[in-house]
Parts: sequence; C-alpha cells; structure tokens
Amino acid sequence: MANGWLHTVIDLITYGRSYFNLHKEKDKASQTLGWKHRKIDHECYQLFGKEWTFDEPFPFRLKDKISKIRNIDGPAEAEKQMALVDHDYVDKIWDKLSPQERKYWEGFFVWLIFKPKILKEWTGVDVLQGKIQRVIDGCKVWENCPESKFEYIRLCKYVKVVKNKSEILQDMIERYGKG
Ligand SMILES: [Zn+2]
Repeated sequence: MANGWLHTVIDLITYGRSYFNLHKEKDKASQTLGWKHRKIDHECYQLFGKEWTFDEPFPFRLKDKISKIRNIDGPAEAEKQMALVDHDYVDKIWDKLSPQERKYWEGFFVWLIFKPKILKEWTGVDVLQGKIQRVIDGCKVWENCPESKFEYIRLCKYVKVVKNKSEILQDMIERYGKG
C-alpha cells in the first residue's frame, strides 16, 4: 500500500485539496491488518480486473456514479468520491512497482511538496495564497480555497518527518533535488 502521505500529496496535485482525514480514515484498518486492510473500504481496489483495468481505469459505471453524486449532493461530494476512488487506483499501481521505483516516486513527491512555485504553475494549486485553478465554462479561474493553505502547512510538517526518518530520501533530494 502506498503510504498515507503519498495519497494526500497526489490529491493536493490533482484537486488542490489533500483529503488528509479521508485517506487516514480509509486506511484505518491498516494499523491492525497491514496490507490486508484493503479488504475493508477499498471496494474499487477489489474490483480491479473485473470492473476496471489500467487500460480502462474509468468505466462508465464509475463515471455515472460520480455524476449522480455531483447532481444530487454537489461537486464537493463528487470530488470526495473521486479522492476515495483514486486512493484505490494508487494502491493498485503501488503494488506493481519495485521497491526502487517506489522510493523514486516518494523522492519525487517529497521534492515537489516543498516547491510551492511549481505546485502553482504546474498543478494549479497556490498553496501560499490558498487558491485553486479550475476550468469553468472553458476559462481558467483561480478560486479561493483558504483550506488549501492550512492543509499544505499540515502536509509539509508530516512530509518533513517522513524525510527526516529516511536517509535514502534525504540523499536523493540532496543529490538530485537542486534547483
Ligand atoms: Zn489504502
């Protein structure tokens, strides 16, 4: 399973929100069950090969389910549902990676999280001002989202601890993370 902080960094990049608590809650069973935790609250993970594959990650059933949530409960709830599903998707990809590839991706995300300028320009989340770039009616708009600012501070603290615990990550950032 991918570590919790990876899910939150990926969501910060994807949605501008980290969904820290959502991922923590979803992986709650991992404390007692380890990798087997995915038997609980990981429905999409279990449906890999039956309802979705890497070639077809977003089957109609899933798109339809999310559209219905958007229409009934609003876009914020639909986005939460997407975060829950992408968690399973990332977990499944993580299974396929070698330990070296996992470290590479961890190194990349640790490097990226401390680069607010790149987060703004490349991923469309201004973590310092608390704004998210969204496309509304074909136009790019910076929407206010003060939560992003606080979520970013929390995430940085967390990732700093992860980095400080890992000599490999520190070494990777030191060697390749300049500039
Ligand atoms: Zn999980």
